[in-house]
Amino acid sequence: LEGRVAQAQKMEAVGNLAGGIAHDFNNVLTAIIGFSDLLLQTHRPSDAAYRDIKNIQSAANRAASLVAGLLGFSRKQTQQVTVVDVGDVTSEMMPVLKTQVGEKIDLKIQAERDLWYVKADSNQLYQVVLNLVRNARDAMPNGGKLTIKTRNVPERESQKMSGVPGFTPGEYVVIEVADTGTGMAPEVMEKIFEPFFTTKGVGKGTGLGLASVYGIVKQSGGFIQPESEIGKGTTFKVFLPRYFVEDGEDVETVLPQTIAAA
Ligand code: ADP
Repeated sequence: LEGRVAQAQKMEAVGNLAGGIAHDFNNVLTAIIGFSDLLLQTHRPSDAAYRDIKNIQSAANRAASLVAGLLGFSRKQTQQVTVVDVGDVTSEMMPVLKTQVGEKIDLKIQAERDLWYVKADSNQLYQVVLNLVRNARDAMPNGGKLTIKTRNVPERESQKMSGVPGFTPGEYVVIEVADTGTGMAPEVMEKIFEPFFTTKGVGKGTGLGLASVYGIVKQSGGFIQPESEIGKGTTFKVFLPRYFVEDGEDVETVLPQTIAAA
């Protein structure tokens, strides 16, 4: 347990540091992107400098998306929370996820009927599922099964759970993303939520996917339970606290435009 507490404190410290750096960095990037925009306006595509400016801009944009990942991890993002049915979110994501995983992977999405509601930012939930699905895909280069399941977790079941940092028994909705991929060694599992930890190699992984999943889930009052076995596969369980809808309260039934367009 002591190890887990130390790990949670370390994550908190890294998160604060990362959030601070990301915030200042964002201002610098805004200047680079803004001024290169101005430069582009005074150059024609046939000018020698045009390509160089374009390259500066795309590098700055890539840096900006890394910073966005860091901000996600540090929970410095502003949330737009609504009452959400996570089963709706995952089923509406199906077409997007299909293009992400390709032909070799057998993708299934299952939602429990009468799923409880949660209160969360549906754009962020979308990011969480997308990141978990991309990792599952990368763990199955020769194909396999990818199952996304959403179900209710009654208090009784949650009481049997232990060993997850920050966990308190109660009613939850869980999103399970399971793959039949490579699995992870315990030494890898220990580090997966740390920003910039990646085993995918330079230029391939950023190590920010799970860090941002971690930040979002924590900010939403939930927690994550990863389970993995080498050669068998990995399951990420994302627990979000049940939300009781009040009389006359709006429930989000369709996804915001930003998601539909993503
Ligand atoms: P990235 O995808 O850029 O490497 P992540 O933070 O999303 O960054 O993941 C960190 C590491 O966790 C990955 O490099 C990989 O080693 C491991 N990992 C994450 N998800 C899975 C999975 N489903 N199966 C096997 N390994 C995984």
